[in-house]
Amino acid sequence: MTNTSAVELVVVPCLRDNYAFLVHNSKTQQTALIDAPEAAPIQAELDARGWTLTDILITHHHNDHIDGVAALRGNARVIGGKADARRLPDLDLAVTEGDEIAVCDQRTHILDVSGHTIGHIAYHMPDAGLVFTADSLMALGCGRLFEGTPAQMWDSLQKLRALPDDTLVCSGHEYTESNARFAVSLDPDNPDLISRTKRIDAARAVGKPTVPSTLTEEKRTNPFLRADVPEFKAALGMNDASAVDVFAFARSRKDKF
Ligand code: ZN
Ligand code: FE
Repeated sequence: MTNTSAVELVVVPCLRDNYAFLVHNSKTQQTALIDAPEAAPIQAELDARGWTLTDILITHHHNDHIDGVAALRGNARVIGGKADARRLPDLDLAVTEGDEIAVCDQRTHILDVSGHTIGHIAYHMPDAGLVFTADSLMALGCGRLFEGTPAQMWDSLQKLRALPDDTLVCSGHEYTESNARFAVSLDPDNPDLISRTKRIDAARAVGKPTVPSTLTEEKRTNPFLRADVPEFKAALGMNDASAVDVFAFARSRKDKF
């Protein structure tokens, strides 16, 4: 559990390796859920804390992010991307990039982070210092490109990279250990990556989540945020390549890793 300005963040492990997130404002007694991989563990967490969902925020249409919505929605307001509404559960509020909405009495900005899917959105709560990225920016990784192009994902990742350094990146899966193996294979001499990998291994050895992470550590270590960083390009022998080409190369190598 993390205490931010006015809200509390709770990470809820779901399915085999998914994460859902609860944001709770104790003043207003509002509780938001970000993504609903399955209902049972989320309902158990709500019951244990005596919280009732007021909002459900959906990032994208994949089953492991929406399957719990029907069982959990009750009287909650269900929010998702307008461009994806046709393949999401019924929405009470459809949002697009640039929208600002209030969730748990927090300003919440909508970012289009297409790439993994077209229409994937992220939710940024600037005053709480939280961004919910699901399968776009992940801890030491990024989502596989099922629908978008490398250029689209690189553009999405740059939007996320531009957020304040101390933002907590709340991503959708516990893939960090294998992401770390891959990152080290590309960038073996990055001292920040080496020390982060040790922390990841220690956390996983005792079953602790490696999510959320901070944007600062992602900027220093996540290969998919470093496609335009000279040291990283040099490590790949791609000094003169464009950032999109470096990103595309890294992403395709990850697909085969
Ligand atoms: Zn997905
Ligand atoms: Fe997913």
